[in-house]
Amino acid sequence: MTFESLGLHASVIQALTEAGYTKPTSVQEQAVPAAIEGRDLMVSSQTGSGKTAAFMLPALHKFASEPVVDQTGKTPNQEMQASRSRGDRPRFKAAQPKMLVLTPTRELALQVTSATDKYGSHMKRIKAISILGGMPYPKQMQLLAKNPEILVATPGRLIDHMESGKIDFSQLQILVLDEADRMLDMGFIDDIEKIVAATPESRQTMLFSATLDGVVGNMAKRITKNPMIIQI
Ligand code: AMP
Repeated sequence: MTFESLGLHASVIQALTEAGYTKPTSVQEQAVPAAIEGRDLMVSSQTGSGKTAAFMLPALHKFASEPVVDQTGKTPNQEMQASRSRGDRPRFKAAQPKMLVLTPTRELALQVTSATDKYGSHMKRIKAISILGGMPYPKQMQLLAKNPEILVATPGRLIDHMESGKIDFSQLQILVLDEADRMLDMGFIDDIEKIVAATPESRQTMLFSATLDGVVGNMAKRITKNPMIIQI
């Protein structure tokens, strides 16, 4: 099996070649084609299995395959000109990410963000940022002001920004819960429920966890639609 045979966009393949990846891991082989088709996923896999690429590669593929238009239906330049000729005042706009990855810890969020930078190194339009507890608010406001396509966040800090109107999930296409069992162990269930409720029903949801039993399995079934279940 090769990355080409999984159907990934050429810009993603190029980044993988440069990263020295020669073939997909088992979880990538199973998850990537299903995610490209738009399926929801419930995946039981461990750290080290290549799970980050299993959800990030199909997401980057999707964004690489989309035309460059924003929600106004105009290209960014057309919209800037239209806005100037309307005499719009510059004002604060909430970030409108296309993808959200929730992780239990800051360390994992930073790893996911740097993996995204690596896999997306040939996609200049795609920015990923981390929203983390413990990071100064002004710095996070600066990052959100760039309106990144991809947010990687720990649940508590994300809720703070949502509640103060800094993030609008109406354009969200993909939601990932990474290490979902650890997030539940850490007591994030209410925050996760609140965040999921703020995202569109039409989203694609991918949940990764060491186990899919018990509480985490129940939550996974609640927040996914007709998921493909992958056990590594
Ligand atoms: P993860 O399970 O996502 O934490 O990935 C574990 C490690 O495997 C990371 O260092 C990745 O860079 C690496 N990795 C992921 N997919 C591949 C692949 N297909 N070939 C080689 N290394 C990979």
